[in-house]
Amino acid sequence: MFMKGKKGVILGIANKKSIAYGIAQACRREGAELAITYLNERFERKLAPIAEELGCDGRLYPCDVSRPEEIRALRESLERDFGTIDFFVHSIAFAPKEGLSGHFTDIPKEAFNVAMEISVYSLIELARELRPIMNEGGSILTLSYYGGVKYIPNYNLMGVAKAALETSVRYLAEDLGRDGIRVNAISAGPIKTLAAAGIGDFSFMLKWNAAHSPLRRNVTIEEVGNSGMYLLSDLSSAVTGEIHYVDGGFNIMGMPAVEFDENGKPHIAWNGEG
Ligand code: NAP
Repeated sequence: MFMKGKKGVILGIANKKSIAYGIAQACRREGAELAITYLNERFERKLAPIAEELGCDGRLYPCDVSRPEEIRALRESLERDFGTIDFFVHSIAFAPKEGLSGHFTDIPKEAFNVAMEISVYSLIELARELRPIMNEGGSILTLSYYGGVKYIPNYNLMGVAKAALETSVRYLAEDLGRDGIRVNAISAGPIKTLAAAGIGDFSFMLKWNAAHSPLRRNVTIEEVGNSGMYLLSDLSSAVTGEIHYVDGGFNIMGMPAVEFDENGKPHIAWNGEG
């Protein structure tokens, strides 16, 4: 029970395919007491059975991160129900669809601002608002993707947002380190979720990743969940400011693996099939 006695809130469960759900399950399994949030009433009903399954005991709170008053209300609810907390998970991203395909130069300013507000600034705001109720030894976790480091087709605006998110992790780690609070990100390989469905040609991304990773497969929310649990628990007590890849090793590849035919002629190991 690596998280026995730990209390925290997980933002970003849309359904049982969400990465945040994988993290919540792992934390629960290891003994953590959880609260979860929903975006609006439409999702409250959907999330109620998930909250029950995760043992939240009524700790299901609204939190649209574009509304500062809802972030403040979240802190009040957590303070009322938990007193203090040991961790929070920010598994939230949004970019208008004009930012997720087409020419990069065509990204509208309004779309850029919305993506940065929801996907990046929200982490900073949550850290500021929840800092006063976080215990020393606390841990904050967010979710990133390799498209913030290298070009990935169609990831466009979200790539810029993830780059800013990863840099925010490092600056937050220094700032909150003064209070003994750690801040890390997991850079997960592609997983079929609601948010991923908004990215152009996502199924090709999945195939490419599986074919060109050292492990030659995609990752699951359970695997991201277990790594997330490690970063949220005391198992990682000296780890902060890190971007931890859970991607089957895809990020280490400089070029696709090459195989040789009977005449010694090289060809790429993948024939384009999933
Ligand atoms: P998901 O299940 O769709 O989760 C995204 C969550 O963000 C949803 O719960 C969504 O709420 C929430 N959200 C969006 N706008 C919000 C707002 N204004 N306030 C509060 N919550 C809001 O998709 P996911 O793939 O698990 O995404 C979780 C994180 O993992 C994201 O940061 C994503 O970029 C990252 N990630 C995903 C992949 C992948 O391939 N799936 C890979 C690497 C990193 P609603 O559904 O209620 O709108």
